[in-house]
Amino acid sequence: MDSEFDIIKKYFSFEVLRDDVELAGGDDCAVVSPPVNKQLLITTDTLISGVHFPQNTSAQDIAYKAIMVNLSDLAAMGATPAWITLAISLPVSLVENNESWLQAFSQQFNSVLSKFNISLIGGDTTKGALSITIQAMGFADKDKIMRRDKAEIGDKIYVTGVLGDGAIGLYAVLNNLNDEKLLPCIQKLNRPEARVKFAEELVSYSKCAIDISDGLVADLGHMLDASCCGAQILLPSIPISHSAQYYFQQYNKNILDWSMLLTQGDDYELCFTINQMHQADVENLAKKHKLTLSCIGEITDSRELEFYDKENKLIDFPATGFKHF
Ligand code: ADP
Ligand code: MG
Repeated sequence: MDSEFDIIKKYFSFEVLRDDVELAGGDDCAVVSPPVNKQLLITTDTLISGVHFPQNTSAQDIAYKAIMVNLSDLAAMGATPAWITLAISLPVSLVENNESWLQAFSQQFNSVLSKFNISLIGGDTTKGALSITIQAMGFADKDKIMRRDKAEIGDKIYVTGVLGDGAIGLYAVLNNLNDEKLLPCIQKLNRPEARVKFAEELVSYSKCAIDISDGLVADLGHMLDASCCGAQILLPSIPISHSAQYYFQQYNKNILDWSMLLTQGDDYELCFTINQMHQADVENLAKKHKLTLSCIGEITDSRELEFYDKENKLIDFPATGFKHF
């Protein structure tokens, strides 16, 4: 069987294309040179088999998602990704009789990194249950970092993309629905797209953003807590995909399950606020990036997160998100 060092050499020694990397894998540390006039933003996320993705998820999908969930955090603050480290724990079965798993993982991993001009600069390789921890690092201008504590009363609240596809995709996979009309939801579950390019430009208009990986209710709640304000959200303006609508027609007596859509998480979209005067600019920016963008409500001074239905009736919503414990 391959040793740890054989595995690193064969599967995790990619060509380093960035010239700000002095030294990547091979020594005790990586050595990099951040640009002098920028700030460095650092984030970490772990994916554990059976917890953050179903056990039968493909090697390619795991590689893709592990990077994207981290890039989504960088995007939420408007950072441009540059470097990552990878700590991977592998069961013997995937190394011993199934080297094609590592091959597939490695190829997909390298291809996503190349697409975003990111270099893998180091990591750790251990034996154990399948688990992937990535640390992603990126840059931003000091005065152009979006933070969750910067929402202001009267700001408009936007979300990118559609909400709830990840939750529906997960339900379809776990319950073996085998319905090809739900494939777009499964695709969203396994291949989320971090809104990196959009976010890099959004920083010109927005001071406040968060990624809604734990669901809109929980993550918008974090933003409101941090910003000491409230929000009114109009449920009819929440963007839902055709596949999600089909799911509710076919499998839920045509009743929308808002709790599934807004609290289960696994949507790697951004929720952000802007002053009204920037609405046209931000909507044009989304068009430029071919991104669905929806204004879903407004920041208030109430300290409450309130959801209204299409009759303008206040809907009592369980304030829960994906719970890690
Ligand atoms: P150390 O004993 O100093 O902790 P390791 O033996 O864990 O170093 O790793 C040897 C080198 O290989 C280090 O430079 C480390 O960053 C790199 N490395 C280990 N695992 C990975 C991985 N999965 N991906 C990329 N680089 C890795
Ligand atoms: Mg080590």
